[in-house]
Amino acid sequence: RRKKIVEQCERLMDNPDQIRNIAIAAHVDHGKTTLTDNLLAGAGMISEDTAGEQLAMDTEEDEQERGITIDAANVSMTHEYEDTDYLINLIDTPGHVDFGGDVTRAMRAVDGALVVVDAVEGAMPQTETVLRQALREGVKPTLFINKVDRLISELQEGPEEMQERLLGVIHEVNELIRGMTEEMDDIDEDWTVSVEGGTVGFGSALYKWGVSMPSMQRTGMDFGDIMDLERADKRQELHERTPLSDVVLDMVCEHFPNPVDAQPHRIPRIWRGDPESEIADTMRMVNEDGEVVLMVTDIGIDPHAGEIAAGRVFSGTIEKGQELYVSGTAGKNRIQSVGVYMGGEREEVDRVPAGNIAAVTGLRDAIAGSTVSSVEMTPFESIEHISEPVITKSVEAQNMDDLPKLIETLQQVAKEDPTIQIEINEDTGEHLISGQGELHLEVITQRIERNQGIPVNTGEPIVVYRESPTSESREVEGVSPNRHNKFYITVEQLDDDVLEQLRLGEVTMDMPEQERREALQDAGMDKDTSQSVENIIGKNIFIDDTKGIQHLNETMELVVEGLQEALEDGPLAAEPVEGALLRLHDARLHEDAIHRGPAQVIPAVRDAVHRGLIDAEIRLLEPIQDVRIDVPSEHMGAASGEVQGRRGRVDDMYQEGDLMVVEGIAPVEEMIGFSSDIRSATEGRASWNTENAGFRVMADNLQPEIINQIRERKGMKTELPESINYF
Ligand code: GDP
Repeated sequence: RRKKIVEQCERLMDNPDQIRNIAIAAHVDHGKTTLTDNLLAGAGMISEDTAGEQLAMDTEEDEQERGITIDAANVSMTHEYEDTDYLINLIDTPGHVDFGGDVTRAMRAVDGALVVVDAVEGAMPQTETVLRQALREGVKPTLFINKVDRLISELQEGPEEMQERLLGVIHEVNELIRGMTEEMDDIDEDWTVSVEGGTVGFGSALYKWGVSMPSMQRTGMDFGDIMDLERADKRQELHERTPLSDVVLDMVCEHFPNPVDAQPHRIPRIWRGDPESEIADTMRMVNEDGEVVLMVTDIGIDPHAGEIAAGRVFSGTIEKGQELYVSGTAGKNRIQSVGVYMGGEREEVDRVPAGNIAAVTGLRDAIAGSTVSSVEMTPFESIEHISEPVITKSVEAQNMDDLPKLIETLQQVAKEDPTIQIEINEDTGEHLISGQGELHLEVITQRIERNQGIPVNTGEPIVVYRESPTSESREVEGVSPNRHNKFYITVEQLDDDVLEQLRLGEVTMDMPEQERREALQDAGMDKDTSQSVENIIGKNIFIDDTKGIQHLNETMELVVEGLQEALEDGPLAAEPVEGALLRLHDARLHEDAIHRGPAQVIPAVRDAVHRGLIDAEIRLLEPIQDVRIDVPSEHMGAASGEVQGRRGRVDDMYQEGDLMVVEGIAPVEEMIGFSSDIRSATEGRASWNTENAGFRVMADNLQPEIINQIRERKGMKTELPESINYF
C-alpha cells in the first residue's frame, strides 16, 4: 500500500496544478496533532484505529512524552477530489511559542495554512502569532474549528448558542486577518474566511468527523442533523458519513493555491533579487527545467542516512549527483540522495521537481534557512525570527572525554534551529546556549543528554540584556593612542519606528540604497540623515556627516570595526547596544597609513562611542514577556498575584467560557521558575502562555544592582565609570 502511494506521489510531482503545499498551525492543545493523524489515516498512511493515539508526526521521544509538537516534520499524501488526484505536502509546525523559529521556516515552504482553533477556547495568543507568520510569508489561511463535540458534551449548548459561538470564533479570526492584510498591497484577494465561501470547516478531530458548506451539500446532512447524531453519541456513524479527512482535504484542494498560482506573488515577497532576471522568471513559472533553487527549511538527523535537509524546490529539479551552491558558504555540495517524506519517514525517489518539498542528503554546509542553487544567486531573505534569544544557559560535559562529541552536537543543534545561538569555548569546556525561553533550553539540553547520551551539567538560566541611549549626547572626541588621529562623534536615540524596521529586518545594508532611504524616511527619518547612512551595525545606524576628509574612505573599514566593538559590548555591562544613531561629524587622520592602522583607529572610535553613549544617558533594557493565564475563578487572585509579584503588571481580567483569563506582562528574568510556582499556587488548575514582547528600559532604582550583578558574573570591575552618575 505504502509503495503504491509513493509511486502515486512520484507521478503527481510533475503536475504542479495537482500539488498543494500546506501547513497546519494552531495554538498548543487545539488539536493539530490529532487532526494531522486523521488526515494521514484518511490518506491510508496509518491505520484508522490508531489515528489520534499514534501521533505519527511527533517523532522525537521528548515530544511524545511532553505531548507537544516541537520539530517541524514533513509528510506527503495523496487525495482524490472531484475525480482528480492531488499530492498534498504537509509541513508540521510546533505549537509552543518557545519554538517560533520553526514555525516561520515551515511557513516559507508552503502556500496555504490551515489554522486550527478550539471551539471552546477561541483564538489564543499563539493563533495570532502563527497567523501573522503565515500572512507575512504570503501564505493563504483557511480555518478549522475543532472540538465542536465539547460544546455539546461539556457545555451542553443549544443550537443557537453554538451558532453564536462558532460565528464568534470566525469573527475573531477574521479581525486578525483583516488587521494583518490591510497593508499588504500585493494581496488583492480577500483572505478573510467564511462558511459560505467554503474556507471554514468545523468538527471533532477526536471523533473524526467534520463539516463544511460543500460537505453539507454533498452528504445532504445539515449542521443540525450532525449535531443530533453527536448528541446521540452516534460518532462512529458520523465518522462514516462525513469523515473529517475528506472535509479538510477537499477544502485544501479547492481553496489553497497550487505552486503555479502561488509562486508569482510569493517570490517577490520572500526573495529580493532582481525581478527581471532569468532566475526570478524560472521561479515565478515553477519551471522544472530551469536552474535548481531549493530553500532549506529544516535540517534533521536520520540514524542511517545522517543529516537530511528538507525544503521547498522553487525551480528546477533536484537529482542525485548535482553539485549545488549553498548560500553563505564558499564551495559546492554534492547531492547524495533525494527523497520525499511519507508519514514522517523518508522514501528515496529519483528526482524532485519544482513546486514540491524535497528531503536530500549531502548538503553538509546547509543550515535551516540556506538557499541551495545550481547558479550563484541572491539568497532568499533571511527568515525573520519574531523573537531574539532572551535567555542563556551554560552546558558542560560531565565527562571530559565527551567534549568533542558535545561540541559536535551543539553545532548540530545550531544548524537545526537558527533561533538558538551557541557560543563554544573549547578552552574552559563551558559552552553557552541562548534561546527563546526556559522550556526551549530545557528541551535542547534534554536532547543532548538523552539522544546523544552525553551527561551534562547546566548552569542557572541567565537573561540577556540590551543597552540603549535615552537622550542626545554632546560632541565627544576619541583620540588614538599615538594622538595623531581624532574622531568627533555624537550619539542620539533612534526613533522607535526606525528601530522597529531594523528589528524586523525591513531595513538592511543588503537592500538597494534607494529602497533603504525610502524605507527609513517612511519610518520618520529626515531626508538628509537617510542619505548619509554609512552602515547599519546590529540595531544601530551609523551616519557619516563629514565632507572631503582626506584618507577617511580608506580608513572607514577600521572605523566600522571600532563601532562594532563598541556596540557589541556596551559601556554599562558589556551587553549589546541597540537603538543608537551614531554621527561622525569630523575626523583628523595622520598622513601616513602606517600611523592610522587598526591599533590606532579602533580604540579611538570605540572610546568615543562609549563616551558618547554615556553622555546620552545609556540605560539597561531587559526582555519582557506577555503572559496569559486561564484559570478557574476561585484561583484568579492567586494567578494574578503570581504575575504582580514578579515585577509584573496585570492589564486585563475577563471571563471566557467557564474560566477567567488574566493578561499581563512581566520581565523574563522574573518568569524563570514560573511554571512550578503557578502550578502550586493554583493547585495545577491554570494553563498559561508567554510570548516574548521585546526589551524594556528597567526602572532606574534597579539598574545599578543588576548592572553590578552582570559585571560580577562576567568578571568585570564592579564599580562603574565615574561618568555614569545618572541613576
Ligand atoms: P496539539 O497540541 O494542537 O497538537 O493538540 P493535540 O492534537 O495533541 O490535542 C490536544 C488534546 O485535545 C488531546 O488530549 C486530544 O485528545 C484533545 N482533542 C483533540 N481534538 C479534539 C476534539 O475534537 N474533541 C475533543 N473533545 N478533544 C480533542
